[in-house]
Amino acid sequence: MTENIASNFIHNIIDKDLETGKYGEKVYTRFPPEPNGYLHIGHAKSICLNFSTALKYGGKCNLRYDDTNPVKEDMEYVESIEADVRWLGFQWAERLWASDYFDKMYEAAVELIKHGKAYVCSLSAEEIKAYRGTLREPGKESPYRNQSIEENLKLFEEMKEGKYADGEKVLRAKIDMASPNMNMRDPVIYRIAHSEHHNTGDKWCIYPMYDFAHPIEDAIEGITHSICTLEFEDHRPLYDWVLNEIGWWNPQPQQIEFARLNLTNTVMSKRYLKKLVDDRVVDGWDDPRMPTIAGIRRRGYTPEAVRDFCERIGVAKANSTVEIGLLEFCIREDLKKKVQSKNVIEDPIKVIITNYPEDKTEEVELENNKEVPEMGTRKIPFSRELYIDGADFMEAPVKKYFRLFPGNEVRVKGAYFITCNEVVKNEDGSIKELLCTYDEATRSGSGFEGRKVKGTIHFVDAKTAVPIKIRNYNYLMLPDENGDNQLNPDSVEEKIAYAEPSINDAKPGERFQFFRHGYYIADEKLTTDTEKVFNRIVDLKSSFKPTK
Ligand code: ATP
Ligand code: MG
Repeated sequence: MTENIASNFIHNIIDKDLETGKYGEKVYTRFPPEPNGYLHIGHAKSICLNFSTALKYGGKCNLRYDDTNPVKEDMEYVESIEADVRWLGFQWAERLWASDYFDKMYEAAVELIKHGKAYVCSLSAEEIKAYRGTLREPGKESPYRNQSIEENLKLFEEMKEGKYADGEKVLRAKIDMASPNMNMRDPVIYRIAHSEHHNTGDKWCIYPMYDFAHPIEDAIEGITHSICTLEFEDHRPLYDWVLNEIGWWNPQPQQIEFARLNLTNTVMSKRYLKKLVDDRVVDGWDDPRMPTIAGIRRRGYTPEAVRDFCERIGVAKANSTVEIGLLEFCIREDLKKKVQSKNVIEDPIKVIITNYPEDKTEEVELENNKEVPEMGTRKIPFSRELYIDGADFMEAPVKKYFRLFPGNEVRVKGAYFITCNEVVKNEDGSIKELLCTYDEATRSGSGFEGRKVKGTIHFVDAKTAVPIKIRNYNYLMLPDENGDNQLNPDSVEEKIAYAEPSINDAKPGERFQFFRHGYYIADEKLTTDTEKVFNRIVDLKSSFKPTK
């Protein structure tokens, strides 16, 4: 697991801290999801970073649910988050809930009040907003700012006791209404919400705000390096202020920001993804088109490929958008030496070899993986009637088309040279079958050197071919002329294909290369002994070239 952990600017910070002994030998990180949706590929980036950093330094990484909002917990989300982290190959040191620290957070708030560093404010939300000022103008102090400590303690206790309605009062940190950093203009740190909490029930009707809660959560757990995304950079002074003013923890955790992952053709927002699920635009959170980890997994991506991708993109301090082609490159790299090839025919055209005996079937030998000879060979049947790919025949060939067309000779991979002599049509003008002849002397492996052909095509034997369902995916999102992602109305093409008989042994979750078509996985949910459904993981061609 620690195989390829490249160094990054966060590791440089940690190296310095180890040198100065700031945290002794400790390197503790955490992954802090809010259990309000499924994780996506962006979260995978954060997971890989937090867990592999801990692994690299022999430290630990916690899984902490950031459940300070009193929304109903959804066990479905909690279970999916844990399954996703494990699938990526990581194991948390401890699984924790931020809401377990509510008592401590309350005490910390009282401590701030006692130090004269927090006050109960009775301005309305609109007034607070108006008093905040703008980036150019300083804010205005709340008339409640200089209330006595006793009064604040009493009011805060009453807030806790449920004496006030939602929004009637808030607890604010007393910092600086003229600060150029808007987050420091007396931010709200506790609010009233008369809502049930999944963990604490109706014990609390006041809840801490993220900027107050998060540093305390980190400090309680002894986190040393609290890694988060760049949009929290302006919140770091508040993170430090909270810990400094409470003063209970030494050394204090430090927040470090990195650029969040953005991917072309991908929208990564739990809210947006939830809407796709709720509106049934996709078949659930694990729809293979979804950028969720559950979707990617079902699509057939491997954890190795996702980890490799996260390493390759590195850890940056400036936001950017990564080409989805890089992720696809990583999955091809991982699968190309792992999976077996199968002959599968899409958009089949029937070929009849008129000079081949009617009741004869022979076996031809094909490599399981042409890059890995140790993976051996397999035999597939060949007889008078075959299916070939729709893309391997053109009645009126374009220039430089070397595959089958009337009068042309090609190699059938693993078998013989065949020549197309006649195209038989249906009444509607579509192709019914191709009448071909074969040359017995050209059998593969016979050493035949009489003449060369330019094209090679693949086949399945018509009698024994197994119909399978394949789902060829395109991007769920496509950029419009302004570069904004829009839903792609054609993000999946489902068809029946014909596979060589050994496909009957495919187990749900097993991956293959469908020769010349792409990498496919037997869908975990839909594949049975009698029906096979395959998802295209990725096609074979890549226009993408990684730069390093
Ligand atoms: P979203 O914005 O997609 O709804 P979120 O940030 O609200 O996600 P959280 O559950 O709060 O989701 O995220 C848990 C952790 O994952 C946070 O530390 C967050 O910074 C990180 N994270 C979320 N999205 C990305 C991303 N695109 N790239 C890297 N890290 C991310
Ligand atoms: Mg968040």
